[in-house]
Amino acid sequence: MAAPIIELRGITKTYDDGFTALSNINMTIEPGKFYSLLGPSGSGKTTILRLIAGFTNATTGSILFEGQKINDLPANQRKVNTVFQNYALFPHLDVFDNVAFGLNLQKRPKAEIKKRVLDALKLVQLPGYANREISEISGGQQQRVAIARAIVNEPKVLLLDEPLSALDMKLRQDMQYELRELQQRLKITFIFVTHDQEEALAMSDEIFVVNDGKILQSGTPVDIYDEPINHFVANFIGESNILPGKMQADYQVEFVGKTFECADAGMKPNEKVEVVLRPEDLDVTTAEQGKLVVTVDTQLFRGDHFEIIGIDDDGNEWLIHSTNPVRGGKHIGLTFEPEDIHVMRFGEKEADF
Ligand code: ATP
Repeated sequence: MAAPIIELRGITKTYDDGFTALSNINMTIEPGKFYSLLGPSGSGKTTILRLIAGFTNATTGSILFEGQKINDLPANQRKVNTVFQNYALFPHLDVFDNVAFGLNLQKRPKAEIKKRVLDALKLVQLPGYANREISEISGGQQQRVAIARAIVNEPKVLLLDEPLSALDMKLRQDMQYELRELQQRLKITFIFVTHDQEEALAMSDEIFVVNDGKILQSGTPVDIYDEPINHFVANFIGESNILPGKMQADYQVEFVGKTFECADAGMKPNEKVEVVLRPEDLDVTTAEQGKLVVTVDTQLFRGDHFEIIGIDDDGNEWLIHSTNPVRGGKHIGLTFEPEDIHVMRFGEKEADF
């Protein structure tokens, strides 16, 4: 593991009005990786970013940059730059002067400013746009200008606060590729705030799932998707069927009144658990051959799959993704593999790190 570029240790943040927005935040950020802070509105993502940027102070805890405590270092002396949600471009300046703004403030030589601004515009694929007015370029291009302005200072870390939220779906997807590609080219650390789980899964090397001022889980997108630590994460990241259950033995778990073989869950017999089954891991078969039987309630065509909602005998709703539609008969069987059953400790709220 590379030496961390940023560390947050035991950070809490209580705002002046007494509201505690963050409690005991611990994060380790390595250089050159793409991180996402993923969580619902109001969970504390922006507050974490503002602390790293130096726009607000921590109430307790330490922020370290390359091993040095920077709690008291002013924002403009941190080797960190921010791209804001609304881009915060200056409408009265053209593209060149927007990107050059920070370098002009630092009174860098004219020739150096010109070279660095044009290089930054090239990096974000806007060569030839230097003399355009901000009002003469599209939302996606404004987004790129904001990124060019942030990278022109060659920060070691780029903080991005929901930078794609103002863009329409198609452009948003294009920009996801572009940003990921840009990060890999620049090899600087990106910390990207989003409430969109698909965006976080697609772009990140690592995700921090934030809720209610706490980090619930951190890990690679695959780890978090396959092994959510609790009900909230399982529900927030992807779609899930989540059911209460009980361990029977090391490789056996009971739910919906039946016992199923599962992978090693590392839990004791009789322990109360929650079981997660992803909709795409459920295979549709005949009622006779199913491990479970459900009655089809609705079926929707979603382009690349059919989304089926089935109800079991106990009244539980099951979400199933199937490549084929269900034809004939409302009762279907569901099968799944033991390793498709993900077992979580019941009511577990936070990661223990
Ligand atoms: P969003 O996705 O909506 O931007 P977020 O996850 O980024 O949300 P934050 O902006 O970090 O959330 O806010 C976390 C909590 O702290 C919210 O409940 C918010 O109302 C509160 N908060 C933010 N700024 C202040 C402030 N200056 N004073 C008091 N409370 C604040």
